[in-house]
Amino acid sequence: MKKLTVAILLTVLSCISTVQGKILETARFQEIVPHLTPDTLILLDIDDTLIVPAQMVGCDEWFNLRWKKHEAAGLTKADALEKALAEWESVRHITKMKPVEKGTPALIGELQKKGHKIMGVTNQGLALATRTVRQLQDHQVDLSRTAPTVEDYYVNLGGHSILFRKGVLFTSGKNKGEAFFKFCDSLGLKPKKIVCIDDKSSHLASIEGEANKRNIEFIGLRYAHADIHKAAFRPEIADFQFANSTFVNLLTDEEAIAKLKTAENR
Ligand SMILES: [Mg+2]
Repeated sequence: MKKLTVAILLTVLSCISTVQGKILETARFQEIVPHLTPDTLILLDIDDTLIVPAQMVGCDEWFNLRWKKHEAAGLTKADALEKALAEWESVRHITKMKPVEKGTPALIGELQKKGHKIMGVTNQGLALATRTVRQLQDHQVDLSRTAPTVEDYYVNLGGHSILFRKGVLFTSGKNKGEAFFKFCDSLGLKPKKIVCIDDKSSHLASIEGEANKRNIEFIGLRYAHADIHKAAFRPEIADFQFANSTFVNLLTDEEAIAKLKTAENR
């Protein structure tokens, strides 16, 4: 009798147990592969995960620096953010990008050929959507191939526009977890398992939190490959590039370093 009671209790507990997500640290993009199953939806961050600007100006670190600088100069936090965003987007429109890891575009192509569902999720705003899609295509990454929908799609999140274009969800700075699941709800998409790779653990945590609420299995990979590149960021080089480049010629890191040295030796 006791055995039967225990068995019933275990069955009940297994029925009400929730699927919990987990976040792991990884330095190589290919480490997503062992976590994939045929019903996994793969979410890819863009900046510092798939591509980065070819030089220091235009990178995430530079954007944060400009934001702080404008705030320190007396602008409100919101005005400083708008100004930094305008500067960052202007550079992002004209810069060349490079892959964070050389083998990533080919691996994405292989996974798409095998039929894995893949889409991008970025904090970028709508203004950069077409440009970012083109920059990905320049490196043979086409996230529309096996995306949940091939159509462009607008989602309204609390009066804020979120755009899905060519396989990428542009959340305009909104919480990635809320934005992604609002997109899923609008589309009637019900992923069974999500594997997400992103260089920022805060974004992974936001998606994990929403996935847990819905009892969806989640694996987040905190991608560390660009950490060295971020640590090597030199504000004076990026600011020199911003002040001395032209629309047709963004100074490379090497050019900016050489010009700064020359100026110092005068
Ligand atoms: Mg990123």
